[in-house]
Amino acid sequence: MRLSGNAELKKDVKEKCPICGAESELHVLPYEIPHFGDALMFIATCSSCGYRYTDVMILSGEKRRKYELEISSAQDLNVTVARSSFGKIEIPELGVSVEPRRGEAFISTVEGVLKRVEEVVKMLSRDVTGGKKKRAEHILKQIERIKSGEATMTLIIDDPSGNSAIISEKAKIIVY
Ligand SMILES: [Zn+2]
Repeated sequence: MRLSGNAELKKDVKEKCPICGAESELHVLPYEIPHFGDALMFIATCSSCGYRYTDVMILSGEKRRKYELEISSAQDLNVTVARSSFGKIEIPELGVSVEPRRGEAFISTVEGVLKRVEEVVKMLSRDVTGGKKKRAEHILKQIERIKSGEATMTLIIDDPSGNSAIISEKAKIIVY
């Protein structure tokens, strides 16, 4: 994945911040994803209140798509993942699902997704005890095993807007 060479597409727009009303900046970054096509990443930031919003739009995507990829090697950890704010992420082996939320889109790698899950589980585990704490610790251990190649997992992204993707030839794609 790299930033597209077409610099003319890049537009920085001034926008009114939806939170505080101050003038904020909206950056539109074109991405070129190999074997997939062009995507636009939107990043809005407000310097007055710190509001930040990101979204991804894949220019060829229009239908609901579900991607499934088995993660079984270090190479799989480097696979590019684009998640729009409509994409639901699931990792059945960890019992983890991340519901879509406006403004929380990203372009990252499988490893980056695992890192996000790890951070959330760590945060949640601080406030729980007993069985829930054990479960959180188990998930964290399992993530370590996946990262070191000792365990496998399935990464599923289901997106009704068709704007999320797992960029790998190994990925199963279901178009609805
Ligand atoms: Zn603001």
